[in-house]
Amino acid sequence: MSAFAVIAGCSVNPVTGEKQLSLIPESQELSMGAEQYTPTQQTQGGQFYLDPELTVYVREVGQKLAAVSDRPDLPYEFVVLNSNVPNAWALPGGKIAINRGLLTELEDEAQLASVLGHEIVHAAARHSVQRMQKGMLVNAGVAGLGFALSDNEWGGLLMGGAALGAQLAMAQYSQGDELESDHYGIEYMVEVGYDPQAAVELQELFLKLSEGRQSNFVEGLFASHPPSQKRVEENRKRVRELGVNGKRNKDVYDRKLAKARDLQPAYDAHEAALKLASDGNMSAALGKINEAIKLESGEAMFFALRGRIYEELDEQTKAEKDFDKAVALYPEMFSYRLHNGLNALDQNKLDKAKENLSKANEVVPTSIAFLRLGDVAVKQNRREEAIQYYSTAAKAEGDVAEEARRKLANLTN
Ligand SMILES: [Zn+2]
Repeated sequence: MSAFAVIAGCSVNPVTGEKQLSLIPESQELSMGAEQYTPTQQTQGGQFYLDPELTVYVREVGQKLAAVSDRPDLPYEFVVLNSNVPNAWALPGGKIAINRGLLTELEDEAQLASVLGHEIVHAAARHSVQRMQKGMLVNAGVAGLGFALSDNEWGGLLMGGAALGAQLAMAQYSQGDELESDHYGIEYMVEVGYDPQAAVELQELFLKLSEGRQSNFVEGLFASHPPSQKRVEENRKRVRELGVNGKRNKDVYDRKLAKARDLQPAYDAHEAALKLASDGNMSAALGKINEAIKLESGEAMFFALRGRIYEELDEQTKAEKDFDKAVALYPEMFSYRLHNGLNALDQNKLDKAKENLSKANEVVPTSIAFLRLGDVAVKQNRREEAIQYYSTAAKAEGDVAEEARRKLANLTN
């Protein structure tokens, strides 16, 4: 029995009208999406807060498409995430995100509409809910905590709804779901007046990139939305049938993307610094991240990485200053709070550690934060509290949970 109240039943796919198994009622579909939207944004890079106008623009395009969709009454939301990885995802209930790294790859508004229309269908047709019912979700890692981002070092740390949200965002859709999303997404595009040829071009480009196997699309968009020759052919056929031309809005798109594109060299320097740090080359990593900060001094992500590099170099007070800065720039972001709290605990600043670890857990609960909150409670002679924190951390997996169990046993013996 899963954590969800299961009500067996049958319903129709709201987009296609075909019958589908429905174990999860709509009320739960909506509450799941609403609860997991913020934590899932944060495990995928957090909001691109340096350019709020870009999110306003994406939201405008998205809401026009949502209004002509088969479920116009879903509480749709759209956000731009601060990640170089080209990706987009939809949670149940119409909670949609697109990464900065995908937006900078697109050429015009019609291509953006094609991506958003596709995601809207995934939400409207309840594809995620279907994947959940079929047990198709896999454990997803979380970006932004460890240096080694590609392995699963930090994978088991997410707890509760945050873990489910990350799984929903990263799990692979079936080819059937992909074809359905392309088909109806193109219909929504045409209804709003966009040239559907943009969807074909994009699929052709994605297929070419996926065959090359070099692009970072492979770990992003292609992992959850696999491109295929069949998709390209179906889309071509569909566009031939529709036989329409429409707007591309390239000028508007270029204007709206100007800031994100200007910032790209800074994000490239950050990416290079992260790679160097992962390879253990901390002094070169420090040089690179300083380049990024020189290009853009308002990006919390850069200070968080420099803080982690300083920690590796045993410069705890410099690390603390950078984590403080990251938190000041983006106080809601759980990973900056987490690093700040762990650093404070290392320096035996217990109240500061407690405050930051608690704030991190309010948004995205992790086993590591619960474990270290337990350590703080022990040091402050709050035994009952420590037992509670360790018990929670002990429910997770891996080394962190193991350590929590050991400490719990010590306390309760
Ligand atoms: Zn898809």
